[in-house]
Amino acid sequence: MNFFSEEIEKLKASGLYNSVREIGSAQGPWLVVDGARVLNLCSNNYLGLANDPRLKDAAKKAVDEFGTGPAAVRSIAGTLTLHRELEAKLAAFKGVEAALALQSGFMANLAVIPAVMGEGDEIFSDELNHASIIDGCRLSKAKLTRYPHADAGSLGDLLKASGANKKLVITDGVFSMDGDIAPLPGIIKAAGEHGAMVMVDDAHGEGVLGRGGRGTVNHFGLHGKVDIETGTLSKAFGVVGGYVAGRRDVIDFLVQRARPFLFSSAATAADTAACIAAVEVLSHDTGLVEKLRDNAGYFQERVRRAGFDIGRTMTPITPVMVGEATAARDFSARLFKEGVFAQAIGFPTVPKGSARIRCMLSAAHTRDDLDFGIEKLISAGRATGVLK
Ligand code: PMP
Repeated sequence: MNFFSEEIEKLKASGLYNSVREIGSAQGPWLVVDGARVLNLCSNNYLGLANDPRLKDAAKKAVDEFGTGPAAVRSIAGTLTLHRELEAKLAAFKGVEAALALQSGFMANLAVIPAVMGEGDEIFSDELNHASIIDGCRLSKAKLTRYPHADAGSLGDLLKASGANKKLVITDGVFSMDGDIAPLPGIIKAAGEHGAMVMVDDAHGEGVLGRGGRGTVNHFGLHGKVDIETGTLSKAFGVVGGYVAGRRDVIDFLVQRARPFLFSSAATAADTAACIAAVEVLSHDTGLVEKLRDNAGYFQERVRRAGFDIGRTMTPITPVMVGEATAARDFSARLFKEGVFAQAIGFPTVPKGSARIRCMLSAAHTRDDLDFGIEKLISAGRATGVLK
């Protein structure tokens, strides 16, 4: 056997082999997955915007006006009026001076961290931060110190002990696998006391937390206290793309130095126009965000009451804890058979022994949809022994 097949066999034996399912319908509360109609408890389409007619119309019009591909990186010949319009609207929505649109949330983290931090600098990163933050840190050549999850006290001690010239604290605003919110007031205080900058990745906070979904910084009323925010346009905003938001000087600097901006082609006109439409919807309408919160409260209360452990979530991300990866895989397979699409998540996405089914809620779910999901979680949980 060669390296590849041996590794695949090992993944299969430990329950960590990821079977990628095929979606045969538009995003929505129900999907056709591998040919079967199932309830969607999997996607990050928090507000149901991924198939919204307003976004689709905007994308179609942009194709007619601007064509398909951007034909270049933005700094050479690829910046469209649409990119600038999106940046202005995002900055206003996030309550910052400026924003820079990028191709994805992953790219946004790769754009910022190596541009800002280098040899001799030190990054303090929450131990549960997203993979794109970890990769951005690795690319930067700065010293990387991981602090215990959401622990502002330990962060303060580590910052105090550091002799680095430039220090940057990075945290997810909302942690994508557990749904808890970073303790930003404590983090900002610790960083301020020790001369460190603060960066927040708000991929799961925007469209979810704060006034009308303005995100984690707004949730805590901390505008102006966070140096750099990154985010994605692929989750609550329902399209694809990423951005950096912050002071004008931060964004001006990134336009000069951020490698994904300088060396990778721009997002398409269609995607960018759809993103603009999404920001416009969110800027004027808080109804979807309120529906999402109601749905999350309804679902989580009932799932907890049924006896499931859903950890420390404070957002619509609902981890149904299982433990062993093989048990989580069996639970997910059983759910699928009963008409519910909810994926098992195991190592390395979450620590070993903490495999789970991650249920993602959306404003697009009706109460009947949620009741169906809860009923099937209970029956599949009993059948697989997760629920005693
Ligand atoms: N940051 C976090 C916290 C995320 O959860 C994700 C998406 N999985 C990303 C960044 C990457 O976003 P995108 O999918 O737009 O690349």
